[in-house]
Amino acid sequence: MKVNELFAHKTVFSFEVYPAKKTAPIQVVYDAVDALAGLGPDFISVTYGAGGGAANAAATVEIASLIENTYHLPAVAHLPGINLTRAELGDLLMRLAAHRLENVLALRGDVTPGTKPTGEFAHASEVAEFIGQHIPDYFNIIGACYPEVHPEATSAEDDLRWLRHKIEAGVDQLATQLFFDNRHFYEFLQRAREAGITIPIEAGIMPVVNARQAARMVELCGTNIPPDFAELVERYGDDDAEMRRAGIDYAITQIIDLIEHDVDGVHLYTMNDPKTAAAIADVIKPLTD
Ligand code: FAD
Repeated sequence: MKVNELFAHKTVFSFEVYPAKKTAPIQVVYDAVDALAGLGPDFISVTYGAGGGAANAAATVEIASLIENTYHLPAVAHLPGINLTRAELGDLLMRLAAHRLENVLALRGDVTPGTKPTGEFAHASEVAEFIGQHIPDYFNIIGACYPEVHPEATSAEDDLRWLRHKIEAGVDQLATQLFFDNRHFYEFLQRAREAGITIPIEAGIMPVVNARQAARMVELCGTNIPPDFAELVERYGDDDAEMRRAGIDYAITQIIDLIEHDVDGVHLYTMNDPKTAAAIADVIKPLTD
């Protein structure tokens, strides 16, 4: 099913997983997907390894197909265009359709060391447009958005303008970059709605269960750390069990506040960690049904 149909009926609660890492056996991913599917999310999205390449494409298609066809949950395949040619993306779309996958996340992706962009997709809007042209009216297209503004944007206004452009190119719903301070999300939502963006926007939430992960997120995504979260990392960062408990509590508090503010949906960055996702889903899922 196309997952954008869900928003009319409920607060959507979805998960993100990543496919196999070269350093870990594939069985670890299968076990994580099995446990996460058992938690009953509305859909699961599958990332596409930065750097592109046939192996990354195959891994995303395989896990997305497993979710859709074995667990019978809607799956979303992430599609960063930066390292793809038009022919490669076209081929990938046909493979996804052959696996009866109907949902994709159209992305630009980032330049990775050692990989030269093909130059065929400069922005996610071009990826979205290509998807709609290649197999008209088949895919539900999701796009990414950035409550704290994309790090490369020339201004918050420009970022919003390009977001509108991406929607005009065919994006049906949005998922945000992770954030730790809901005020950034509420301000962004207000600006987006005032700019005429009416499609559903899911809030991206990542439970941070160790201090190293917190530092990495700030470095990678430019996400601000609010004082209460910084205090939590400072207090529990050296104690893995306590940090995990505090990180899960923080994410639950964030999500409950979002639901109280009538959020369209919550997209949980699970990091393939079913135990953490289960602790959150136990509290949150009943609030979204
Ligand atoms: P775009 O929408 O193209 O925006 C990128 C920048 O360009 C912004 O600053 C925007 O304002 C600007 N811009 C947009 N259009 C134009 C235009 N026409 N002219 C000028 N400027 C423009 N990466 C992966 O490699 N694999 C993944 O699986 C993956 N999953 C993700 C999932 C989510 C929910 C999110 C939020 C990000 C994900 N990413 C992933 C990372 C993403 O690829 C990067 O954040 C990347 O920097 C931007 O991608 P985008 O699709 O948002 O780009």
